[in-house]
Amino acid sequence: MSARPLAVTVLGATGSIGLSTLDVLARHPDRYRVHALSAHRNVDALAGLCERHRPEYAVLPESSAASRLQARLHAAGCRTEVLAGAEALAAVAAAPETDAVMAAIVGAAGLLPALAAARAGKRVLLANKEALVMSGALFMEAVRAHGAQLLPIDSEHNAIFQCLPPAAQAGGRPEGVTRLLLTASGGPFRDTPVDEIPHKTPAEACAHPNWSMGRKISVDSATMMNKGLELIEAFWLFGLPRERIEVVIHPQSVIHSMVEYADGSVLAQLGNPDMRTPIAHALAWPERIASGVAPLDLFRIGRLDFRAPDLLRYPCLGLAQAALAAGGTAPAILNAANEVAVAAFLDGRLGFGGIAQLNAAVLDAVPAAAADTLDAVLAADAAARRAAEARIDGDKLAGGVR
Ligand code: NAD
Ligand code: MG
Repeated sequence: MSARPLAVTVLGATGSIGLSTLDVLARHPDRYRVHALSAHRNVDALAGLCERHRPEYAVLPESSAASRLQARLHAAGCRTEVLAGAEALAAVAAAPETDAVMAAIVGAAGLLPALAAARAGKRVLLANKEALVMSGALFMEAVRAHGAQLLPIDSEHNAIFQCLPPAAQAGGRPEGVTRLLLTASGGPFRDTPVDEIPHKTPAEACAHPNWSMGRKISVDSATMMNKGLELIEAFWLFGLPRERIEVVIHPQSVIHSMVEYADGSVLAQLGNPDMRTPIAHALAWPERIASGVAPLDLFRIGRLDFRAPDLLRYPCLGLAQAALAAGGTAPAILNAANEVAVAAFLDGRLGFGGIAQLNAAVLDAVPAAAADTLDAVLAADAAARRAAEARIDGDKLAGGVR
């Protein structure tokens, strides 16, 4: 164990992953201290976290919210300094005083601070899969060029990392690995008649059978866009050809993913569906620490089932496969369309069935280009958002929401 506690910055501290991270950190005050916390708009929640975890910095995007937070913390006798804006966010992620950065902002908003952490050579605990989907080549290159240590938090990717040969964990090629088997629960509509799925409501889509998560990723799990994004994430993280990454529906969410080897061995990582396991793993790797997760009770689980995904039920998975095959900025375009579509669905401006339709239409309409600069990626993201919003507005004018 290190002599001084590791300083951790938690981006997206008020979210599902952020709170689970703070829960694990608080179990090990001798190993970890919190350097900075960030949130979006929830001043009350961030104030409570600052009072409890006493970070040096707290960051919010808007200065008015930041001023309110600062006043509240002063009144409470908390010495956390509050900063505002995207540059401040990137600065705390790259600060010399930070050793590790948990990148747990949801969506494209998480890309720049996660990239800043990678460019500063930090230990990057990556929950924000959208960053790799948008700019996988650039992100992985930044990790390599700046000697950052990238540890996946997404449970499937963390499971695969745990099952890889040690040389591959250290950044080498995955020698002897023939396939990655990415497991998926199938979400809340796994057994729903296919013709009923397009009419599902946000409450139904967010009621995940196994995991408790933020609303965006919950909807992505219901459409299985989440698995599509994870396929692209796995492609960039592990360096296998895309044909060698297979999605397997496993309703119990006990096996978090598997690695198949040339000799016929298949290694799996199992555990209860609680994100504190991958978080604790990535924080302490290569050591192991307690996470607060209950031991796995195999007798209660009883059985493990597997089935192949059906692309008619989950058209978003097919779109992600197509975007990965197309390459360049196609995944960034799909990701941006999907963020707009999911937000519109959660706001009641788009039906559930409209998510896949909108994603397909935008992927088709916005031309993909090379994703070799950050500007190209951000331009593709912006173009796809405009195209998606225009289609939603156009549909409204044409007679209502799908
Ligand atoms: P969440 O919605 O619960 O939390 C998101 C966090 O990001 C919040 O702290 C919010 O304040 C912040 N945020 C949102 N928009 C922002 C913006 N524009 N600028 C700055 N901050 C912003 O989401 P979550 O479920 O914790 O997921 C976070 C990330 O982790 C996502 O990329 C998700 O795909 C990934 N992930 C989550 C889980 C899970 O179990 N929740 C599992 C695997 C991967
Ligand atoms: Mg996952």
